[in-house]
Amino acid sequence: MPTSNEKRKLVYTIKELCRVCYTCVRECPAKAIKIVNGQADVISERCIGCGNCVKVCSQNAKVFLQSRMEVKAMLQSDEQVVALVAPSFPAEFPEIDDYRKFVGMLKKLGFSHVFEVAFGADLVALQYKKFFSQVSSSGYISSDCPAIVTYIRYYHPDLVKNLIPVVSPMVATSRVVRKKLGSKAKLVFIGPCIAKKEESDEVDETLTFRELRGMLEYAEITTDGVESQDFDPPRAGRGAIFPVSRGLIQTVNVIDDLIKGNITVAEGRIGFQEAIKEWESGNLKGQYLELLCCEGCIMGPGMSPGGKRFERKTYIGNYVRDKLSQTDRKEWKRSIRQYSDIDLSRTFQPDDRRIKHPSEDEVNRVLASMGKFSSRDHLNCGACGYDTCVEHAVAIVEGLAEIEMCLPYTIEEMHASIKDLAVSNEKLIKIQQALKQSEKLAHMGQLSAGIAHELNNPLGVVLMYSNILLDECTADDPLKKDLELIATQAERCKKIVSGLLNFARKNQVKIESIDLRKLVEESVRAIIIPNNVEVKTIFKAKNLQANLDYEQMMQVLTNLNKNAIEAMPNGGILTVELDDTDTEVIFNVSDTGMGIPEENMDKLFTPFFTTKGIGKGTGLGLATTYGIVKMHKGKIDVISNIDPAKGPTGTTFKIIIPRNIIME
Ligand code: ADP
Ligand code: MG
Repeated sequence: MPTSNEKRKLVYTIKELCRVCYTCVRECPAKAIKIVNGQADVISERCIGCGNCVKVCSQNAKVFLQSRMEVKAMLQSDEQVVALVAPSFPAEFPEIDDYRKFVGMLKKLGFSHVFEVAFGADLVALQYKKFFSQVSSSGYISSDCPAIVTYIRYYHPDLVKNLIPVVSPMVATSRVVRKKLGSKAKLVFIGPCIAKKEESDEVDETLTFRELRGMLEYAEITTDGVESQDFDPPRAGRGAIFPVSRGLIQTVNVIDDLIKGNITVAEGRIGFQEAIKEWESGNLKGQYLELLCCEGCIMGPGMSPGGKRFERKTYIGNYVRDKLSQTDRKEWKRSIRQYSDIDLSRTFQPDDRRIKHPSEDEVNRVLASMGKFSSRDHLNCGACGYDTCVEHAVAIVEGLAEIEMCLPYTIEEMHASIKDLAVSNEKLIKIQQALKQSEKLAHMGQLSAGIAHELNNPLGVVLMYSNILLDECTADDPLKKDLELIATQAERCKKIVSGLLNFARKNQVKIESIDLRKLVEESVRAIIIPNNVEVKTIFKAKNLQANLDYEQMMQVLTNLNKNAIEAMPNGGILTVELDDTDTEVIFNVSDTGMGIPEENMDKLFTPFFTTKGIGKGTGLGLATTYGIVKMHKGKIDVISNIDPAKGPTGTTFKIIIPRNIIME
């Protein structure tokens, strides 16, 4: 058994099972559970071994230190191994109808002796009685629950002086056994408590009833064929009632109605903390304070889970009634006298482990980071495992908790993420559509480049020979008109072919330093403006110089201008606006025309797409524009409205080109 200085990890988390519900955080009276990276970890330096977290974890992710292997090894050795059984055993083993069979089962498991810790409880109760008769004032706290003793030593060190300086029934029993069997015997305490595993080095090992149950099952020991045996003497008297009597001070009263003054009994993690607080604030002056971490030892974490408190009480009650009816009172008194010389006193040392309370500033800063700026934002919903938002914030400052534990904060964050996701989803859809479009155009480009290339030469031949023939024709030659038609149509074909080549980006870009104002002004002059169309040029750009291919950009702008005018057969305004940023040049070509229907939007840049009649449009203007803009590593946006109900109709083509493109 290690000394109290070298603390073993009494309780720990199985990370794989922990679903981070924060129930253990809420249930831990010592605030010994820290959440780091979404994992609940037990801080052993702060743990008092009460086992609340073990009891409340629905996922069985909290487990306590197991001593089965050590005890098994002891039992298999040559040593004399003795069992000290806590008085709550009838509540754990109600299926065993006679306690003598239970004793027989323990002997079959290998224990040489089986003693009742209830006898220790008898001795301790008498010692309490003696103590109370000696001290003048009341104002004492019971010291029989080891988790409470540790809690007071760690977190209320000023109250250590109020702990009744008497050992626990377990230690008292171990001293009795040592007196009877000598120091060589190995003592194994068996009870309902995890904190007992760290209480004293006067016992060699500590098993919980759950562990004992496992060992009996593993060894296949049942009541069948087991020899009924009584506990080894000294046998207990009324101390057996201790686990349901609400603690030792009450047991003293059961044994001998002696205590004058009031006893305040506080059980369970909320009850005992409240009682300590009230005691500290002076409300409980002159009271005996009986503190129990569990709701009676019968509800200890070392009991099998799922047991009912009041049912368990009846098991103990029945057992004690039976037992007392058979007890030989004289023999009991003799035993008490026999062991009355055992020293049952002890002292307690404070071991202050309180964390310094963080400053208000620090706490407020953390609260603000959770979106809690005023008391109205403090919902105190408790979902994080802390009673209030401030307690949670304090724990965050102390490094015990995380912001994400705050449910309202996390929900808000989640809503924000969902919104962000929806936005990026929308963006993705748009990008995907654009990608599809450019893929289609790339295929078209390859095809057109191939066709254009093949057509270029034969067309040249047609053009050359028709011109030669034309030259040879006299003015009144009847063939002249036909030849002229051939030549002009061939010329037209050539233009189409060169347009296709532009679209397919088969032409080279000739980058030169250009004057943007000149470019815009010339692009307007290059087209025929009908009388009913007004032209506006707006120069917002701060820097009118850029490195672009002048001829090609001219083609882009004239194409857009032409389309704009053609979209306004009944007149309107053509606006060419030049804007810029440090790195980009922006052309906005707008008209007040009929607009572009939604269904045409993704066809605009496809070669040969036109809504203009045969012979009027080629459907190559925007395809060429697209090719040139891409060659300049720029992009085109179109905004259009066809519905007068939604506002003025018309279209704006926005061309954004890097001011200084770098060609690979
Ligand atoms: P074309 O002008 O020979 O028809 P384009 O490639 O220049 O070929 O234009 C393709 C089609 O895009 C046009 O036929 C027209 O339907 C539509 N379009 C282009 N610009 C505009 C605009 N400013 N307003 C309305 N529709 C337009
Ligand atoms: Mg056009």
